[in-house]
Amino acid sequence: MTETCLFCRIAHGELPVTLIAQNDHAVAFRDIHPQAPVHVLVVPRRHVGSLAEATDGAELGAVLLLAAEVARAEGVAESGYRTVMNTGDDGGQTVHHLHVHVLGGRRLGWPPG
Ligand code: 5GP
Ligand code: ZN
Repeated sequence: MTETCLFCRIAHGELPVTLIAQNDHAVAFRDIHPQAPVHVLVVPRRHVGSLAEATDGAELGAVLLLAAEVARAEGVAESGYRTVMNTGDDGGQTVHHLHVHVLGGRRLGWPPG
């Protein structure tokens, strides 16, 4: 837990967000600025700065499995969805606590900007 980290505070219930799914290692909640009809963030409970700092495969696996569970729960597993992890400055990461974006509910463009 990092006191100043936004997603640590959300993961530990210190900020009022509705968790839409969770498992032993990760929690999921809606992005505050949704970029698609479904836009959920899945984050590890433990502070991990980014994918570049990840060391625990079980934790990372639990994050990804929760992302797939969210997609099923949100009704986009059949239509398709995108999972995105932005890492570092060039990757466009703005919150420095590892997170997977789950985006769906519309046809997404490729390549990303
Ligand atoms: P990044 O740019 O680091 O990949 O993604 C960070 C995401 O966190 C952005 O999509 C942004 O909208 C979202 N976000 C930033 N602050 C908050 C917040 O306070 N609550 C929630 N639910 N999402 C946030
Ligand atoms: Zn954190």
